[in-house]
Amino acid sequence: MEVSPFPYEDRLPVNRGLPEKGMAREDLLEALAAMAKEEDAFWETGKVSGTMYCGDHGHYRFLVEAFGLFAHVNALQRDMCPSVTKFEAEIIAMTLDLLHAGSSGGEGEGAGGGTTPAGLVTSGGSGSIAHALLAYREHARLARGITAPNVIKPETAHPAFDKACHLFGIELRRAPVDEATTRVDVDWVADHIDGETIAIVGSACNYGYGTIDPIRQLGELALSRGVGLHVDACLGGFILPFGEELGYDVPAFDYRVPGVTSISIDTHKYGYALKGTSVVTFRDKAVRNAQYFYLTDWSGGKYCSPGMEGSRSGGLLAATWASMTSLGRDGYRRYAREIFETAAAMRAAVAAQPELRILGDPTFLFSFTSDVFDVYHVNDFMQTRGWRFNGQQYPNALHMAVTRPQTRPGVVEAFAADLADAVAFGVEHQDEPAASGAIYGGVIGGMTDEADDFIKVLMADMMDSFQHVPPPT
Ligand SMILES: *Cc1c(COP(=O)(O)O)cnc(C)c1O
Repeated sequence: MEVSPFPYEDRLPVNRGLPEKGMAREDLLEALAAMAKEEDAFWETGKVSGTMYCGDHGHYRFLVEAFGLFAHVNALQRDMCPSVTKFEAEIIAMTLDLLHAGSSGGEGEGAGGGTTPAGLVTSGGSGSIAHALLAYREHARLARGITAPNVIKPETAHPAFDKACHLFGIELRRAPVDEATTRVDVDWVADHIDGETIAIVGSACNYGYGTIDPIRQLGELALSRGVGLHVDACLGGFILPFGEELGYDVPAFDYRVPGVTSISIDTHKYGYALKGTSVVTFRDKAVRNAQYFYLTDWSGGKYCSPGMEGSRSGGLLAATWASMTSLGRDGYRRYAREIFETAAAMRAAVAAQPELRILGDPTFLFSFTSDVFDVYHVNDFMQTRGWRFNGQQYPNALHMAVTRPQTRPGVVEAFAADLADAVAFGVEHQDEPAASGAIYGGVIGGMTDEADDFIKVLMADMMDSFQHVPPPT
């Protein structure tokens, strides 16, 4: 990835300090509009996997209008803005309803009997996962006296679990997945639960393969062992339920499944809201409340906050609420239909290439590899035609998260045609290394300590360049 350390230096001054005199608003907005237009052109083609879930500028303009009305409001100051309480409460209520939080979820500990479902609006999927793990840690400390907690996740579950465990001093155990199905090995999970396990994890669906872990079996396990089960539906939560309604084969992953105790679900993905919101939901309010923070004797006044954030934007809550209430079930279902149909057509184009192989049994997001050549050859070639996939490793694979921009006329046909050419390119170059494989693909022979150190240095350089401060002239 080539990122200039000073993007747009040709047309805007590089600010090396706070400018003494402000720039005229019109000039500034004109420059910003030009940048946004150029950058949007990249994904408007429909050739970019994921990231632009809605891609409809009319929808974005509407959300921004709702955002703008409350963007200056702090969601901590509820007495001044009861509207924010309405937005947040209803975002949570609508999400709980979508996830069937009212269902009893069977009998016994971890089932729903007598508990009150609850939720928290967070800043994104990572935030939702972090809050869930913090809640489990605190609840297990209070209820079970656990001081050295551990969590078990499928290897395929999002790095946000590793990050949360790193932040909160939780041991993370990574369960292997079945090579063919890419679903977690439930027996391995069962063998590694011990007296300090606070929760196990399943994804619906995972980011890499778009496959859904055996949630029902994980739920039975969680119930029988008295641990929590977090389902990560960050990606699938706002689209799989509508796929199910449309008759696609989507196994139940929500609160209908006994043993499921929390679910993360991203409004800023298939909820079609603005970036910066997600919801973490709990079957039992007591688990959520375990991570509430209080400081009662501060000289600055009594303080409490429901999550890790302090001040939060009322605008994001308004825009998320506006997205959900303007689309309604009907709107979400319509978008889901288009996306599921497009994904099926794109998968068929992959299946038509004998040199390619789809991993597992995915839904709206699919991942493919090749047993004939390094699949990064396909990536190299498809890049020349404007496509942008997400690169995977162990095994090398490419994934396409189908979003609304792919549902536009002609995109599937272009995908099929370009893919056929890309496969021919791969066959032709099968004895050579693929250019992008060196960056995004796995280390041949498996990861080593040396490779790990080397890659971390490259990644640190990359992150430094993103936060790069222009040196004084
Ligand atoms: C995107 C994603 C996350 C993390 O969400 P962020 O919003 O990027 O923090 C977690 N799990 C899955 C499956 C995801 O796709």
